[in-house]
Amino acid sequence: MSYEKVDLAVIGGGPGGYVASIRASKMGLKVAVVEKDKPGGVCLNYGCVPTKSLYHTARLMEEIKKAETFGINVSVPELDFKKAMARKEQIINIQRKGIETYFKKNNISFIKGEGEILEKGKILVKNSNGNDMEIEAKNIIIATGSSAADVEPFDLSEDGIMDNTDILSLEELPQSLLIIGGGVVGSEFANIFSSFGSKVTIVEILPEILSTEDEEVSKLIHNAFKKKGIDIFTDSKVEDFKRSAGNFKCTISGGNEISAEKILISVGRKPNSSGIGLEKAGVEVDERGYIKVNLKLETSVKGIYAIGDVTGGLQLAHVASKEGKIAAGNISGEVGEINYDAVPWAIFTSPEIGSVGLNERQAKERNIDVCTGVFPFSHNSKAYIEGETEGFMKIVTRGDTGEILGSQIVGPGASDLIHEVAVAMNSELLVDDLASTVHSHPTLSEIVMETAEDCSGLATHK
Ligand SMILES: Cc1cc2nc3c(=O)[nH]c(=O)nc-3n(C[C@H](O)[C@H](O)[C@H](O)COP(=O)(O)OP(=O)(O)OC[C@H]3O[C@@H](n4cnc5c(N)ncnc54)[C@H](O)[C@@H]3O)c2cc1C
Repeated sequence: MSYEKVDLAVIGGGPGGYVASIRASKMGLKVAVVEKDKPGGVCLNYGCVPTKSLYHTARLMEEIKKAETFGINVSVPELDFKKAMARKEQIINIQRKGIETYFKKNNISFIKGEGEILEKGKILVKNSNGNDMEIEAKNIIIATGSSAADVEPFDLSEDGIMDNTDILSLEELPQSLLIIGGGVVGSEFANIFSSFGSKVTIVEILPEILSTEDEEVSKLIHNAFKKKGIDIFTDSKVEDFKRSAGNFKCTISGGNEISAEKILISVGRKPNSSGIGLEKAGVEVDERGYIKVNLKLETSVKGIYAIGDVTGGLQLAHVASKEGKIAAGNISGEVGEINYDAVPWAIFTSPEIGSVGLNERQAKERNIDVCTGVFPFSHNSKAYIEGETEGFMKIVTRGDTGEILGSQIVGPGASDLIHEVAVAMNSELLVDDLASTVHSHPTLSEIVMETAEDCSGLATHK
């Protein structure tokens, strides 16, 4: 058995683990990363990057269909599913090679195998070719991420019943797709496959899809999906299913029957926290198996940190990366914490969504005296130029002080625009600071200024 001694061993090479390792190495630590699959984790290989590559293809399809409006005559676009999937793989491969290069450049040992903590400061790495290894590490960061949760009556090992990994390796476009769960992952796949030409149905157990978002935002996406031809059954679940003539026949609550060639299960995530030696090391988990951490990302055992999806909380790639940097900083003697109140997120539907902080409902639930500004894209010049006027922006503020509590955008450029509010929140600026900043014309970003102005009833174009 080979042996390596390091200052820091990171288990898991996803956006949490690989970013933590680079930061720690740049701060002078000797670092090893243990990864049982591919560098980049779920985000690069089976999540953010492949879905957004397919989303881009889907958007282009929709844009080309509208080309005539812009004075361009083209024939009806036809999808080459295999080419779109191959392009997605190419993008993943380039970025995966990039991570490997960063590992080399920063003298980080990349160790392929399954890591298990034997005791505080000691990790066993089991490798499929029998080259087991022991690592002695002054500090450990657990960044093992999460996997797709399953739901009855389905069995993910059955052919045709897919999680996010399976659907991203399809070879043919399914004619029909039933999506169980209309959260972020389910809605993003619904949007992509509907644009590609599959008949998509969503079954959601809650009263609305994207139910954690602002109500007006989820309603707008619900209507946009219906317009695209996506069938949505809310307050519903699949009671029973059978296979018939190559298709699944599903009976949902209320007795409706849905027929689909493939089924995607997108009902949430579960932590990858078993079999990694937490019990041996004494690391505490909560009742759902997520590792308990404090704001410094320390677990219940000194010298063992945990970051990213395996800790629950906001399961986003950029949160995992930020937590990785903070854990690496704390190990190197630089004290830091993450401001979860100012974390933005994006949902890549058509139109897309950008959010940060509290929405109006959440702020009111906290008995805050809320004041909101709302501005539609249909009053924004650039949105007209781009031919995308559906949607709006909302800023939620504290009525007496103008403190920005959150913001939601649904419409063109939402995933980028939201960052202006995130910077403002992270820097503790007030809504008047957004309103008084001159925004160039004609840009989508003018919507931020006008929404901020609307908080005082002063928006020019409303
Ligand atoms: C379909 C989909 C789309 C998404 N899109 C977005 C998006 O657009 N934006 C966004 O911010 N987030 C998105 N996410 C969420 C994002 O992918 C996760 O939040 C992020 O990957 C979490 O990073 P992580 O480093 O904590 O874990 P992961 O990315 O899950 O990485 C954990 C790594 O640890 C490895 N591992 C596990 N156990 C062991 C072990 N014992 N030994 C060695 N290695 C081990 C795994 O193989 C994996 O590579 C998406 C998720 C899905 C499923």
